[in-house]
Amino acid sequence: MADVERQDAVTMDKIVSLCRRRGFVFPASEIYGGLGSSYDYGHYGVLLKENVKARWLEAMVREREDVVALDSSIILHPKVWEASGHVSGFTDPLVDCRFCKRRYRADHLDASQCGQRPSKRPGETEQCDLTSPRQFNLMFETRVGAVEETGQQVFLRPETAQGIFINFKNVAQLARRKPPFGIAQVGKSFRNEITPGNFIFRTLEFEQMEMEYFVPPDEAAEWFRYWVDERLAWHVRYGVRESHLRVRPHGADELSHYSSETSDIEYLYPMGWSELEGVANRGAFDLTAHSEASGTKLEWVDAGTGERFVPHVIEPALGLNRSLLTFLIDAYDEEVVGERERTVLRLHPGLAPVKAAVLPLIGKSEDMVSKARALYDELRRVAMVEYDDSGAIGRRYRRQDEIGTPYALTVDEQTLADGTVTIRERDSLAQERLPLEGVRAALLDRLSQPWKNPKA
Ligand code: ATP
Repeated sequence: MADVERQDAVTMDKIVSLCRRRGFVFPASEIYGGLGSSYDYGHYGVLLKENVKARWLEAMVREREDVVALDSSIILHPKVWEASGHVSGFTDPLVDCRFCKRRYRADHLDASQCGQRPSKRPGETEQCDLTSPRQFNLMFETRVGAVEETGQQVFLRPETAQGIFINFKNVAQLARRKPPFGIAQVGKSFRNEITPGNFIFRTLEFEQMEMEYFVPPDEAAEWFRYWVDERLAWHVRYGVRESHLRVRPHGADELSHYSSETSDIEYLYPMGWSELEGVANRGAFDLTAHSEASGTKLEWVDAGTGERFVPHVIEPALGLNRSLLTFLIDAYDEEVVGERERTVLRLHPGLAPVKAAVLPLIGKSEDMVSKARALYDELRRVAMVEYDDSGAIGRRYRRQDEIGTPYALTVDEQTLADGTVTIRERDSLAQERLPLEGVRAALLDRLSQPWKNPKA
């Protein structure tokens, strides 16, 4: 990871602290001292995660005619992972320090910290005593069966893709699809990462959003380029600044065992450029391997012409949690308004956990409260909205800014007189008055308008 100077106000510490303060994400098992690189998602974290997932499914499935959805098991037959090459090849090079007993990824040494001296890299102090690298398999093992000794050894899946490949025949037949077509899946994956870290960037369990796109072999290179462009455009569509995104093709020495071509879509994180999403040309590797190992032919046969071939596969694979982190980092902003500093998440309205807040100006005014609650009850039927009547109005606005709520609706004295409310826009801070009966339509209309990141 390159050392890059950033102009932005954002740092990983600020994101971690905002996530904690506002209940997006907090360390898992905290009352027991926490478990490294495991995190729990609170109310706003769950809502944001659900929105990222929904926008991905919309773009990959709903807006297309050539991709269908799947939800396969996390625990698969152990032979799946032998055939896929994960048992023998899903490894990272591991280095131990005999002195401090820490473990590092041999290919990440220059981004790791020495256990004794935080300012040094492993191997840089006199006491450091590193072993030579050995391969460490990243799959978590467990057992199926009541009796430990005789139970069958199985793995928690390290990627969702294999569940798609082994269902190729089912889906191709039942969904009556002809290549090119895709199968999309969102679900948990597990990796026993050696050097996890950087908050939720790399964790032991995470959710992946993967799509396997099956194509005629001679079209694979073209579809690979298509999917790199499509996926890049998706991140931009939901607000990630183009200046902070780049596509990096893998060198021959980096390619996974299954891939003939891979490009990473990278984002400029506070710690430098790193992978956000990977797009791989997996060729016929997986379908061929599972056909041979299972004895079930996974190929495309045209019922009319009898033509048959093993489709090649293009795979865009995105971490849901890493995507959420990227949106948070890119949206984070600080500014001074009227001598007051505010922190604001400039999230795309389609991602924002809460779409609008309904606020009676004076929380103790029964008239304002009853009007505000009536508006809240009306809006909550069509959107995620929040009601808040406690504390000074400025503090309530700032709280909503920090969780990225695009609109605040305030019920005040004038509402009681003429039936209008103020709508305040998060980014521009522009305020307008709307008649109460028109708020619902106006809000839905504004939320569906094209949005441009004001930071871009
Ligand atoms: P890395 O090089 O960062 O370890 P990878 O190349 O092994 O990642 P892939 O196997 O291509 O990752 O997985 C696809 C996507 O899943 C990644 O681009 C990332 O968004 C996400 N991902 C992978 N591992 C993790 C993890 N441990 N925690 C969170 N997200 C992950």
